[in-house]
Amino acid sequence: MKKKRARRGCGLFLVPFIGFTLLASFLLYRFGERWLRTFLIYLSHAQWARDLVSDLSLAKRVARRFVAGETIEEAMAATRALNARGMLVTLDYLGESVTDEAVAASARDEILQLLDRIEISGLDANVSIKLSQLGLRIRKETALENLRQLLTKAQENGNKIRIDMEESELVDVTLDIYHTLKDEYGFDNVGVVIQSYLYRSEKDVEKLIDEGAWVRLCKGAYAEPPDIAFPEKADTDANYVLLTEMMLSKEARNNGVYLGIATHDEEIIQAAINFANASKIPPETYEFQMLYGIRRDLQAWLVERGYKLRIYVPYGTAWYPYFVRRLAERPANLWFFVSNLIRR
Ligand SMILES: Cc1cc2nc3c(=O)[nH]c(=O)nc-3n(C[C@H](O)[C@H](O)[C@H](O)COP(=O)(O)OP(=O)(O)OC[C@H]3O[C@@H](n4cnc5c(N)ncnc54)[C@H](O)[C@@H]3O)c2cc1C
Repeated sequence: MKKKRARRGCGLFLVPFIGFTLLASFLLYRFGERWLRTFLIYLSHAQWARDLVSDLSLAKRVARRFVAGETIEEAMAATRALNARGMLVTLDYLGESVTDEAVAASARDEILQLLDRIEISGLDANVSIKLSQLGLRIRKETALENLRQLLTKAQENGNKIRIDMEESELVDVTLDIYHTLKDEYGFDNVGVVIQSYLYRSEKDVEKLIDEGAWVRLCKGAYAEPPDIAFPEKADTDANYVLLTEMMLSKEARNNGVYLGIATHDEEIIQAAINFANASKIPPETYEFQMLYGIRRDLQAWLVERGYKLRIYVPYGTAWYPYFVRRLAERPANLWFFVSNLIRR
């Protein structure tokens, strides 16, 4: 009887999903991948969709392909396994767009605990954070103070924290907070992220090169308008190659720039390797970075050839927006997700 009721409950959840699949198929057929991506990015912010999906145990199971688990223990276990395979890690306690000071403070406390767990375990991992998780959308000062406390703890433990880059409206304030922490508070264990889809990034990179910054370069995961970001993927990719070469240049390295090349794009990875080889840049002076669960074959390929690789390992219960952005990056993931739900 109970089983029957549970199945009926699950059936109710399937109705919106089938509608969603039909709508996604229509968008893909009628307008192409860009529209589907924009729609998915919208869903990643939509509270109704989050409420619908977050409690589905099946959705949780599918999300586990990209997320290490919900607890610190699971994140530590994933880190241990990756370290054992010769991969470095950056841990991300999932959460973003927080609108409550108490929630931001509790994220800070979890990350303080995470920094200590890394220290005690002796695992090779640093930490990535999002400023909107630490209260940026409430008050700039809240996020700044929370990150200051995290950097102080990381410094005591000889560890580092990288600030993820979020939507374009947050880029100025993110770089501002980064510079305040570095220049006014004197932290040398803080890094930042640059997105190659933004027109402004070349200028930002020039400044970061002057400062000898610790930078991760990625393509960018949000839906941005064409007056701010390259609408064509080919231009984003070309800019990625340009920014990589700028940050691997002799001038950049002499200034102390350390680059994390964060992509699963084989051609870009090969272009970076070719450029580094041609310029005789030792492989230990930069690193590749990839997301947990994505292109494991390519991850192994890099490590086997002696390249440094860091895996971005997210964990926590707030996996929904992160997961939907991963679906947006590759429609095939979406069909995998929906077919798993329907197969049940
Ligand atoms: C370590 C790391 C940190 C990041 N931090 C940020 C950040 O702070 N801010 C931000 O905006 N973005 C961040 N991103 C996401 C990034 O901007 C891209 O959205 C994402 O990496 C996909 O782009 P790509 O470079 O892999 O190239 P793409 O051209 O999108 O993909 C190249 C190939 O990689 C594979 N691939 C890519 N994505 C997926 C996927 N989701 N599932 C399965 N296969 C896939 C496919 O084989 C695809 O053909 C980060 C990415 C990485 C790797």
